[in-house]
Amino acid sequence: MKRNAPGKVYLVGAGPGAADLLTLRAARVLADADVVFHDALVHPDVLAVASRAERIAVGKRCGKHSTAQRFINKRLVDAAAKHRVVVRLKGGDPMLFGRAQEELDALRAAGIDVEVVPGVTAALAAAADLGVSLTRRGLSRSVVFVTPRVGDGEQPNDWAATVARADTAVIYMGAGEAAAISAALLARGKPSSLPVAVVENASLPESRRWLTTLGALPGLADEAFRGPVLLLLGEVFAGAGREADEAYRRRA
Ligand code: SAH
Repeated sequence: MKRNAPGKVYLVGAGPGAADLLTLRAARVLADADVVFHDALVHPDVLAVASRAERIAVGKRCGKHSTAQRFINKRLVDAAAKHRVVVRLKGGDPMLFGRAQEELDALRAAGIDVEVVPGVTAALAAAADLGVSLTRRGLSRSVVFVTPRVGDGEQPNDWAATVARADTAVIYMGAGEAAAISAALLARGKPSSLPVAVVENASLPESRRWLTTLGALPGLADEAFRGPVLLLLGEVFAGAGREADEAYRRRA
């Protein structure tokens, strides 16, 4: 393909939060970056690795105003005309729930060289924090990553059916809809006793964890969250109670 910009754009996974969960490749690209366009969720310690770069926040925080995707695409294309190393830094892994495809398509259409650097997705950091294998032998041979959130211009899908069929499910962007998620899965025949782990700020020192059940999950609506939250469902989490927050367990 003909390249019409001197710069290269890297879509880089920032990992779940802790800076030392960046990959070596991500750290190298960040250290080399002239400009970094980052999500609101990216931790300051991770941004600090891009020590010589201009850092520009462009996005996306659940329920808050976010820069329109088309505008982000355009800024990336424009930056590649001016800079040698442009980084688009996204929480977790860029290829999961991160609008990476729109950016890749726009950059390729503009003839710009682009490379993806994977990152540790939140689900895997949460499993590590919980000390629970998502595919514990004898209990789980399937894991799904889902979101009930429907983006602009997207058709709703039957995410609940997908969760109901999986042994283990990790729900992204779902904490604010705990009651609806619980109702949808109970309606699909999942037992109200199904263990649910809730992990906030996975991988960070301020991480908090709760253990509850599908039936008690609507109680989560009372919780004042301080950071991003994952819901993890499945029998594998039955043993996660020792780690759980006592206050929430009493309420559940
Ligand atoms: N690309 C990201 C996901 C972006 S969607 C990844 O691979 O992790 C944003 C959602 O991810 C949040 O609403 C939350 O559900 C989840 N999330 C991201 N970081 C998290 C963290 N440190 N702890 C818990 N959940 C997190």
